Amino acid sequence: MKAARIHQHGGVDALVYQDVPDPSLRPDHVLVRVRACALNHLDLFVRTGIPGIRIPLPRILGSDIAGEVRAAGKLCDRIKPGQRVLLSPGLSCRQCEQCLSGRDNLCRRYQVFGYHVDGGYAELVAAPEYSVIPIPDSLPFEEAAAVPLVFLTAWHMLMSRARLQPGEDVLVLAASSGVGSAAIQIARLFQCRIIATAGSEEKMAKARALGADHVIHHYQSDIAAEVKRVTDRRGVDVVVEHVGAATWQKSLDSMAPGARVVTCGATTGFDTRLDLRYLFSKQWSLLGSYMGGMGELHRVLKFVFRGQLKAVIDRTYPLAEVRVAHARLEQKEQFGKVVLTM
Ligand SMILES: [Zn+2]
Repeated sequence: MKAARIHQHGGVDALVYQDVPDPSLRPDHVLVRVRACALNHLDLFVRTGIPGIRIPLPRILGSDIAGEVRAAGKLCDRIKPGQRVLLSPGLSCRQCEQCLSGRDNLCRRYQVFGYHVDGGYAELVAAPEYSVIPIPDSLPFEEAAAVPLVFLTAWHMLMSRARLQPGEDVLVLAASSGVGSAAIQIARLFQCRIIATAGSEEKMAKARALGADHVIHHYQSDIAAEVKRVTDRRGVDVVVEHVGAATWQKSLDSMAPGARVVTCGATTGFDTRLDLRYLFSKQWSLLGSYMGGMGELHRVLKFVFRGQLKAVIDRTYPLAEVRVAHARLEQKEQFGKVVLTM
């Protein structure tokens, strides 16, 4: 089959489009003919390498996968060849206390496609049957592939970690990102007032179209000052953080007493500071979030299958143009998801 792999970490040139052996089919696995695979910021981290984490190479990247079932192993009884499906990006042992309590993203053996195991930048991928989720015929593969990782992440952040309540004020950083565009829509479902940030006039208009009530130009305006102005000096109840060093202090400065900040990433750097006086006197909650449980994925997909939540697709590229696709994401040119087709 054709696949895009990395043999060493590096720039976009590290991605090699080549012939590789087809994956073998275990009895409890399903073989999926991949039709679309969405990019995530995680893909850039896996390609460039993550300090302190060893990734076995070569590796086929890609966590967000949709396609048709080509074959099902002997032990599979739910999934049948020919079904249109997407894959849960996260895999786990399914046997430990965390897994059995519905917190599989806390499993010590939690793995992500395209990171710990080979992913979807390929014509075929093998997946355990439990990770395979049928999709409606009306949902195009490109849209299905663009959903799982970012909607699962945003749902876990807002619902499970920050326990978002109807009508709250929410600040969503970087509306153009996958997580940002998903978080805006989820907060919209709960009738929240949404303040989003974006880096250009064009992206600001798209953020408004997606449901943001106020949009701040994060290169030209002071985020915290604008939030205070919009909220009558009170600040927001929840901040959706995934930017890190560049925005962390502004995120804290935007918080109301009793507010929660929830972070799932730090694309601009990991080192920040925290003035503990504000943490205790304002009774803030600082929350970390990583992926989400499979039960949460099924829950958020209900809204997607009904058309109440929808992935924002920036652009699609054939798999052979994977380097161009990575460059677009790396240079922050996109609004929404960049998707590979094959
Ligand atoms: Zn487990």
